[in-house]
Amino acid sequence: LTRVRHPKLRRAPHYATLTDRDISFFERLLPDGRAITDPDDCSPYNIDWIKTCQGQSQLVLRPKTVDEIQAILRYCHEHQLAVCPQGGNTGLAGGSVPVFDEIVLSLRSLNSIGAFDENSGVLIADAGCILQTLDVHVNQFGHTMPLDLGAKGSCLIGGNVATNAGGIRVVRYGSLRSAVLGLEIVLADGSLLDCLTSLRKDNTGVDMKQAFIGSEGILGLITRVALACPSAMSGVGLGLFSCTSFENILSTMRLARKLCGETLSAIEFLDSSTYNLSLKNLQQTNKPVEPNNFYILVETMSSTYEQAKATLDKLANTALEKEFITDGTLAQDLKQYKDLWAIRERVPEALVADGYVFKYDFSLPPARMYKLVEETQKRMKPFSNVRNVTGFGHLGDQNLHLNITVQNGYSDEIKHALEPWLYEWVAKERGSISAEHGLGLHKSKYLELNKGKQSLELMKKMKNIFDPKCILNPYKVLPYKID
Ligand code: FAD
Repeated sequence: LTRVRHPKLRRAPHYATLTDRDISFFERLLPDGRAITDPDDCSPYNIDWIKTCQGQSQLVLRPKTVDEIQAILRYCHEHQLAVCPQGGNTGLAGGSVPVFDEIVLSLRSLNSIGAFDENSGVLIADAGCILQTLDVHVNQFGHTMPLDLGAKGSCLIGGNVATNAGGIRVVRYGSLRSAVLGLEIVLADGSLLDCLTSLRKDNTGVDMKQAFIGSEGILGLITRVALACPSAMSGVGLGLFSCTSFENILSTMRLARKLCGETLSAIEFLDSSTYNLSLKNLQQTNKPVEPNNFYILVETMSSTYEQAKATLDKLANTALEKEFITDGTLAQDLKQYKDLWAIRERVPEALVADGYVFKYDFSLPPARMYKLVEETQKRMKPFSNVRNVTGFGHLGDQNLHLNITVQNGYSDEIKHALEPWLYEWVAKERGSISAEHGLGLHKSKYLELNKGKQSLELMKKMKNIFDPKCILNPYKVLPYKID
């Protein structure tokens, strides 16, 4: 485990240090052990999922109500105590754990599921509800959540909104932002901003909630969400295909768009290194398809199984005929469907098992996506401790996940060979340096490169309006001045 923060990053001196008086206040406010001070119990809240960041918080708070959250932030605002909002702690940009001794405000215990309106398909839920739990809940009414991702069993809906999480269904349902109809937010001074409407249409002035979607906890605490949940499709098809080149991957994607049309629900790709690491991690010795250099997963959904299957069959046959793919398999039952998805969804776990992970998440023009992986592979050649340079991702959204796994932990030398080179490469292509994971701690200093000076200045002004004492998630998202 390594701290990735800049060696010169110092704790900002204007934050107060936690006193016994502060702890007594929080223990009174949150009885039944919900103000956690035991270092062993605080430890999991201090370490991020990919184990690249470690904070030193001595206090974790687990409020159950919005009133408690308001009281916590009112107190922290008054006493200048820094706070790190935390959801399921599955974030991949180092934003969910403290950098120094910020108080962790965990949303896990704020987890009531509210009303589901069967007429509009709108769900209201507390920010601390687990994504998968909500999906099971709305399934009862014939609906589904508008997003799906590998961390669904642990991530919380508030964290999803705070990161504007993408996932595998953006192809079908669009970005999470478009499904968020309302939000309730506790601002840094403890006041409540009520934007919790459930309306699909509401053109009345500036849409304040938009500022909080994807703001990664620096502007306010999301406490409740209203989400548009699409109807669940009873027919689902999934195919895994192997290809010789990335060119053929793109040809298969174009063909899938044409032949699967409105049934298309996901298009993902993996290169052979990613695919092999994932199979190894799953301890799967039998290969589902004939091995090749690249793999593409295409999922279809429809109100009938026959239609979902028919479009996928057509894709498989035509892609074979045109020699875009060399082999393929179509899931025949739920078990096979889950097994095929596991190869893609459990890649992050396979990478962590392979070594220390330098993780990048870019949006790029499709034709340039794999070029970056190849150039990174060349650049990493001199480093004998690099185990794998892999590319995979949400192909249908032009979202490349580039990962470099390293033996024996973090290496400064490798980091400097990768950064800022990678970010500059992506900026030159007018891509995004963070397609869906956010900036967190890892990428904040490159924000200007991606967004330009003017946007950055406006973001700083917004931060100053919502959180003038800068107590919310310090050192994250906006570049922090290092002397
Ligand atoms: P956390 O990790 O706890 O927090 C993330 C950020 O949001 C932090 O900055 C935190 O301070 C802030 N935050 C959390 N809750 C709140 C709140 N209520 N109010 C204000 N700020 C808050 N991401 C994708 O986009 N697409 C994927 O496909 C995807 N796949 C993943 C697969 C795996 C196996 C893993 C481990 C992660 C994956 N992720 C993916 C990343 C991660 O799951 C998402 O970013 C998720 O939305 C984070 O939710 P969380 O509840 O864990 O938030």
